[in-house]
Amino acid sequence: TDMVSVKGLNKVYESAGRRVEAIGDITFSVARGEFACIVGPSGAGKTTLLKCLAGLLTPTAGEVLLDGVPVTGPPPGMAVVFQEYGRSLFPWKTVRQNIDLPLRQKKLPRAERDRLVTDSLGAVGLADAGDAYPWQLSGGMQQRVAIARAVAYEPQVLLMDEPFAAVDAQTRADLEDLVRSLWRSLGITTLFVTHDIDEAVYLGERVLVLSASPTCVLDDVPIGLPAE
Ligand code: ADP
Ligand code: ADP
Repeated sequence: TDMVSVKGLNKVYESAGRRVEAIGDITFSVARGEFACIVGPSGAGKTTLLKCLAGLLTPTAGEVLLDGVPVTGPPPGMAVVFQEYGRSLFPWKTVRQNIDLPLRQKKLPRAERDRLVTDSLGAVGLADAGDAYPWQLSGGMQQRVAIARAVAYEPQVLLMDEPFAAVDAQTRADLEDLVRSLWRSLGITTLFVTHDIDEAVYLGERVLVLSASPTCVLDDVPIGLPAE
C-alpha cells in the first residue's frame, strides 16, 4: 500500500450563501519513504488540502488514506511542522519538554523518551539548547526545535506547511539542507507544502502542482535528484 492515498478529494466552503470550491477533484498517492512537494500559488487550495490530509477538515467528497486507513481525525501516525513556529512551541516549556510532549502522549517509557529527545536535538544541531526556552532562541532555531519534535515522534508521515516562509534566506537554505539530509538518513515519508516552485524542485523527489483554476488541476512532475 501507498503511505498516503488521496482519492477524488473535493472541498467546497459555503459561507454567507457563497460557494467556494477550494479543491476540485484531486487524486494522488505518495509511496512509503517518498519526499513529495505540493506547490501552488496563493488561493490554489494548499492549506485546504493540507488540513484534509491532517484530518483537521472534513472533505466534501473523496477520501484520504494513511497507510490504507481512512483519515477521519488527526491521525496518530502523522507529525506536522507549521509555518508559525512561534505558535507551535509552548513558551513556558523548555526545548526538551516541548519535544517530549508528544512522546508522553505516545506513552513511551522515560528512558526511550530521553534517548529520542537527545538524538533529535543532536540531529538538528541543537545538542546544547535542550534547557533553553523557545523564546530565547532565534526563529530559525525554533523551527529546528519543531523539526526535532516531529522527527523524535517517529511519524509514519511528516507534513510540512510552508515551514520556512518566515525565516531569512540564509537560515532557510540551512533548514532546507537539514530537512533533506534528515529525510535521506531517516527515510520518513514527507509531504512539503510551499508556494515556492524553486524550493519544491530543490527539495522534492516529486512535485505536485496545484493550479488555481476553477476545477483544480494536479500535475505530477517527477524530479530527478542528483545522485550522492
Ligand atoms: P492556499 O493555501 O493555496 O492559499 P486555501 O486552501 O487557503 O489556498 O484557499 C483556497 C480557496 O478557498 C481560496 O479561494 C480561499 O479564499 C477559499 N477559502 C479558504 N478557506 C475558506 C473558508 N474557511 N471559507 C470560505 N472560503 C475559504
Ligand atoms: P513520568 O512517568 O514520565 O514521570 P508523569 O507521571 O510525570 O510521567 O506524567 C503523567 C502524565 O502527566 C503524562 O502522561 C503526561 O500526559 C502528563 N504530564 C506530566 N508532565 C508533563 C509535562 N511537563 N507536560 C505535559 N504533560 C505532562
